[in-house]
Amino acid sequence: MKNIMLNNSYKVPQMGLGVFLVEDEKVLTDAVNWAYEAGYRHFDTAQIYNNEAILGKALAPKERSSYFLTTKVWNSNTTYEETLNSFEESLQKLQTDFVDLLLIHWPSEGYVEKWRALETLYQQGKAKAIGVSNFEIHQLQALMETATIKPMINQIETHPYFQQNELREFMEKEGIFHQSWAPLGQGLKDLFEEPVLQALANKYQKSVPQIILRWHLDRNSIVIPKSVHKERLEENINVFDFTLTEKELEEIASLDRGLRVGPNPADEAWLKETTGK
Ligand code: NAD
Repeated sequence: MKNIMLNNSYKVPQMGLGVFLVEDEKVLTDAVNWAYEAGYRHFDTAQIYNNEAILGKALAPKERSSYFLTTKVWNSNTTYEETLNSFEESLQKLQTDFVDLLLIHWPSEGYVEKWRALETLYQQGKAKAIGVSNFEIHQLQALMETATIKPMINQIETHPYFQQNELREFMEKEGIFHQSWAPLGQGLKDLFEEPVLQALANKYQKSVPQIILRWHLDRNSIVIPKSVHKERLEENINVFDFTLTEKELEEIASLDRGLRVGPNPADEAWLKETTGK
């Protein structure tokens, strides 16, 4: 497994396990154990996933220094104090005294103030790296106007149908690392049946999901594919023994069609609704 070095020199295993929508204790515990056996050392949760406590319990027997752990502050926490308080709850649930990465989940109300809280937690060593998720260029710019610490990561929806090239270019210039959520397009059938991807799968004797994950890695992104099935967990991490050529990366670049599978950060009404205020 390759490590990525962030702009504060903290290291992130380039592939992690995402646990969105996994709320059953046995399912999550089995997935974490299979993933750990297969070599995953990076786990991605969020306050809103309602599984921090079961993830914490599943990880408790493992050596804390052996894995990288991310959580995200939910949109209902709109102030400095609420962000700090909710983070303390996250730590308790996760059974740890620090996370490796703490993200603001969406650019919803109060994100500039929330960033100050993340800076405090970073300075206290309770979050080893801090960043944002689902931020567009103008929101990153607004944040950086008052920030004393630049976000280290922006975790954004990214897959071959939604490649995020403009945002990537901006982030690269600013030294903000790209992390891809929904790296497999949440299993979109059309994507898995793309002839370009199937031809590459044939060539490398890999599956289409493996080709897609390799594409993310070859673009130097951090990926967090989700699965709770042993075979798929093993399949998804078995991508560190080949690389795609420049020409093949260009072929995959041509698949971009601006198609989101998740919410749009420009949807102000949705962002407002998720604060519950
Ligand atoms: P994903 O692209 O990882 O797709 C997961 C789905 O793809 C699975 O449910 C399964 O149906 C399919 N799949 C996975 N491996 C497969 C394989 N080898 N073969 C065939 N099908 C396979 O989508 P995701 O879960 O939305 O994203 C991954 C992680 O990103 C989440 O679990 C979560 O941790 C994070 N995430 C973050 C945000 C955010 O706002 N920051 C939003 C959504 C997800």
